[in-house]
Amino acid sequence: MKKLHKETACIHAKDIDNEYLGVNTPIYADSAYKYRGAKETQYPRYFNTLNNKVISQKIAKLENAEAALVFSSGMAAISTSLLSFLKNGDHAIFSKDLYGGTYNFIVKEFPKAGIEYTFVEGESIDQFSNAIKDNSKLIYVESPSNPLLRLIDLKGISNLAEKHNLLTFIDNTFATPINQNPVNLGFDIVLHSGTKYMGGHSDLCFGAVACNQSLADTIYKSAINYGGSLNAQDLYLAERSLKTLAIRVNKQSSNAMEVAESLESHPAVRRVFYPGLSSHPQHELAKEQMSGFGGMLAFELNADDESDVDKFLDSLEMIEAAVSLGGVETTICSPMQTSHIKMPKEDCYASGINEFQLRLSVGIENPEDIIGDLKAALEKVRIAETV
Ligand SMILES: *Cc1c(COP(=O)(O)O)cnc(C)c1O
Repeated sequence: MKKLHKETACIHAKDIDNEYLGVNTPIYADSAYKYRGAKETQYPRYFNTLNNKVISQKIAKLENAEAALVFSSGMAAISTSLLSFLKNGDHAIFSKDLYGGTYNFIVKEFPKAGIEYTFVEGESIDQFSNAIKDNSKLIYVESPSNPLLRLIDLKGISNLAEKHNLLTFIDNTFATPINQNPVNLGFDIVLHSGTKYMGGHSDLCFGAVACNQSLADTIYKSAINYGGSLNAQDLYLAERSLKTLAIRVNKQSSNAMEVAESLESHPAVRRVFYPGLSSHPQHELAKEQMSGFGGMLAFELNADDESDVDKFLDSLEMIEAAVSLGGVETTICSPMQTSHIKMPKEDCYASGINEFQLRLSVGIENPEDIIGDLKAALEKVRIAETV
């Protein structure tokens, strides 16, 4: 099939129901397959059943990669992919703003495996360059990052890595393949928590990795040992969700832009963090490496009493305070009360995170309803005395 636009690639996949001619991929729930006369023995944990293959092809296409594998969670995709390439004595470099689960995986599991790691701030390529050692194997980044939507210069990283013969990994969950294709910027391995935008309805947990065929073969060999495959029913639902990925993410991105602009001019908001705003310090970089700015934003209440954060959250009528993100419904959370609750306060402040910040996952509702709900709740915030 010729190269399709992304909205189209979300919907069309080959290899569908050749026998009964349904237009959807049938669910092959089988855990036992006949082997005599088969080209390849199928088994769910071998990632090679029909439901596995169809969604993998779709994700690979969307990321402009040769191959993809789908896992039972984002963390299964991340841990399996990293451990496929790292062994005792190796060193890996990570940007510091990482998803909490990834951070925990590194600090808890790497020492047991004898793998060294370095976290770098990530504002400049020099910081990554300075972290490279003789035993360095890979650089791993998240861009945009959680919760303050900081960006990493992806072309800069892939150029640096190429010079030093390092593999490059990116967690592309926030941007989605609709807004950012790291393979086009020279990245080797693209990871997703499908639980977020790919699933998109807050009812599925899965993960994915996309890369070239030879890297996928290496990951595959470890993946069958670690056993993090996804079941047929959820593979089917995940594939169904992908059909609306482009339409959802485009709407979430345009809604987020409207919400960001409206919050930025509100007296009860001190600051808005959104790569689409010209006030974002990396707005130019965002325009270079992203085709859309995504549905995630953060903002800081212009208050000086912490109780105003709870008052604001309690006053929202439509938007729920919830963990996770990427669903069709707008949700909000305080990073200090959720994702960063275990991080010492001083470390949060050092990372630019504080009690007055809220992270918004913008949904596909009518933007006027989202903005209206936020504005009504902002009325309850006692604006900080300006000095
Ligand atoms: C949620 C998330 C993960 C982990 O995904 P799970 O599906 O929960 O295992 C990894 N990275 C990012 C950026 C996430 O938001």
